[in-house]
Amino acid sequence: MDVREVRVDGWERVLVAREGEYHCVVAIHSTALGMALGGTRLWRYDSEADALGDALRLSRGMTYKNAMAGLDAGGGKSVLLMPERLADREALFLAHGRCVEALGGVYTTAEDVGTSPADMDVVARETRYVAGTSDGTGDPSPRTARGVFRAIQAAAAHRLGSAELRGVRVALQGCGNVGAALAAQLAEVGAALVVSDVDAARADRVAGEVGGRAVAPEDIYDVEADVCAPCALGGILNAETIPRLRCAIVSGGANNQLREPADGARLAERGIVYVPDYVANAGGVITGFGELNGHPPAWGIARVDGIYDTVLEVLRLADEGGILPHEAADRIAEARIAAAAS
Ligand code: NAD
Repeated sequence: MDVREVRVDGWERVLVAREGEYHCVVAIHSTALGMALGGTRLWRYDSEADALGDALRLSRGMTYKNAMAGLDAGGGKSVLLMPERLADREALFLAHGRCVEALGGVYTTAEDVGTSPADMDVVARETRYVAGTSDGTGDPSPRTARGVFRAIQAAAAHRLGSAELRGVRVALQGCGNVGAALAAQLAEVGAALVVSDVDAARADRVAGEVGGRAVAPEDIYDVEADVCAPCALGGILNAETIPRLRCAIVSGGANNQLREPADGARLAERGIVYVPDYVANAGGVITGFGELNGHPPAWGIARVDGIYDTVLEVLRLADEGGILPHEAADRIAEARIAAAAS
């Protein structure tokens, strides 16, 4: 395997590994709090530079997410460049397993966009440093949804005066693994749901299951609601969509919801409380960490439920400091990392 180290300021280690069809960037942002933890993404990139950029951004994001979730884990990420036509998927993930193993335990991977528990089973044939295999806790989405549910409760307590979600109106974008599970949990406590998905049949099915209503993807931004829950793509909170929102709270499972940092200010100017995505959607990584460290399932459940208190702390700090919620979250995470590093 050809392994090239890339020096990047602010990252502990970045490498590009190649072997046959295998072409991967592994970025280890920080191990200050413990072994770097972060999934493996398989995506079609225009260039290695694009993949490198994604790996850097995502690995840094994992450092913050893990710190915020109170885990003794650092942040890392692997990005696999999808070839034009992939001939041998198994060989790709065996090579990845060897690459992760060669790092000697500073980094543990798991599934992410474009990869599955079955792929992690292949990785596990070559390394111990992998979570999210099919015999583990499996699909993390239900726990991610549970954390988002707790985040919505906390934001409701902060902004609406009660964590009680009966009758609270939620506009939910994306009825995939996280969105559908979140919709079910919200319906169970009596929230009123309007949902959307680019797959109209999926939106209709979830709406039917939760006694809600489905709208076209473009219309979800205009729905009058108490809570807007983005559970599809990143970048959906931006200069075009924010002026259209008719809600008091944004709290969802999608990663990187703000297109740019200024969108945090745009939300605040409209009086909308934004729960930073990486605080709300840490449920999956929390239970993955628990599994890796041999904690019983109850440990993970308690930690995921703890997202409620974390969100309250973030929103309180934001109010008291006159700063935006995503800035408050970053401060808390950075303080924890700095304390561990000193
Ligand atoms: P998924 O692919 O199962 O679901 C995404 C859904 O969004 C799909 O049904 C898709 O059709 C729909 N969608 C795409 N574009 C849309 C649009 N413009 N409008 C409405 N719907 C649209 O993915 P998932 O696992 O549910 O993850 C959802 C989001 O949560 C992603 O951003 C992911 O990165 C993030 N996330 C997921 C987890 C997890 O445990 N799965 C953990 C942390 C973060």
